[in-house]
Amino acid sequence: AGTWKSERVIASRQGPHLRLAGGGAGILNFCANNYLGLSSHPEVIRAGVETLEQFGAGLSSVRFICGTQSIHKDLEEKIARFHQREDAILYASCFDANAGIFEALLTPEDAVLSDELNHASIIDGIRLCKANKYRYKHMDMQDLEAKLQEAQKHRLRLVATDGAFSMDGDIAPLWEICQLAEKYEALVFIDECHATGFLGPNGRGTDELLGVMDKVTIINSTLGKALGGAAGGYTTGPKPLVDLLRQRSRPYLFSNSLPPAVVGCAAKALDLLMESNAIAQSMAAKTQRFRSKMTAAGFTISGQDHPICPVMLGDARLASVMADDMLSRGIYVIGFSYPVVPKGKARIRVQISAVHSDEDIDRCVEAFTEVGRKHGALP
Ligand code: PLP
Repeated sequence: AGTWKSERVIASRQGPHLRLAGGGAGILNFCANNYLGLSSHPEVIRAGVETLEQFGAGLSSVRFICGTQSIHKDLEEKIARFHQREDAILYASCFDANAGIFEALLTPEDAVLSDELNHASIIDGIRLCKANKYRYKHMDMQDLEAKLQEAQKHRLRLVATDGAFSMDGDIAPLWEICQLAEKYEALVFIDECHATGFLGPNGRGTDELLGVMDKVTIINSTLGKALGGAAGGYTTGPKPLVDLLRQRSRPYLFSNSLPPAVVGCAAKALDLLMESNAIAQSMAAKTQRFRSKMTAAGFTISGQDHPICPVMLGDARLASVMADDMLSRGIYVIGFSYPVVPKGKARIRVQISAVHSDEDIDRCVEAFTEVGRKHGALP
């Protein structure tokens, strides 16, 4: 069906220009979540090396036994400050943060209302909890309101949504969601993996972009994308919630502490973002350049103003063959097909980074136009 996923092997650091194993130097990379180019930023790497030397390779322990170092506490405090929240708790990944939160917070008396296109880790986290489950149509506020009315009989209601949706590059209508949450006395949870560091004037995320920083209760996000790209995730929000997670959240209680090098890299990435908003702002014009040139060439790009730019193709084989042909022209992109996206909605997901040059973007558009014509995706 054209849905088999093989892995290409990279023989260099992550960045806009890659070397592939077995040849292929100078490949232009358009599919990392390295939105700000911090994955290979010299100061981030130096901070990682220094923290590795000072604090060791790892803790060989979970946090509550002998796995909490001063750097873990410092990073949690920094994350909370970055998001203007009371407290934060680290996990080995955001997948773990999402796996831990719903079960720890919600009981069979409660309800969770989830966007149907939420990330797999939110879906799995919700599966693990015993709350009553409602799934509303993607970004459909009428449907969310109807589900909130139905859920009024439960003790506590939690609306859960991605801030920015990773497959479509669209942004949740958080203003409307928060208004409905107020009306029906619900809490709002957002997954900010594809927003933290670069959406909003200071890169705080979707809640900053849409003016609802004081209305969203809980944020889960990752250190493994814009914030240095190594690994790690977190929950940030009210202190009593974070206290509860430290006692109850299973991926936190039963999994190793975040390695010091990873902590050092993420802490430096946050420092860079808090020193100035220039990095956070650096990507918007490039995203705009790619989206407008591709649209002018005749492609359909899903989403709104987000560096995730899905080139919609429909057919899984077409997406896969076009991605291979792009690579033969020196452009690294990947086709996404079922089960990662719904059947019949295959696409090539292009991701723009602050470290792409205008020439890189123009080369990518030219290659897409040639390949698209060759395979009949363009007239
Ligand atoms: N949530 C969203 C929306 C994601 O895109 C991802 C990663 O793909 C995750 C959670 C998981 O993040 P991590 O890689 O930190 O486990």
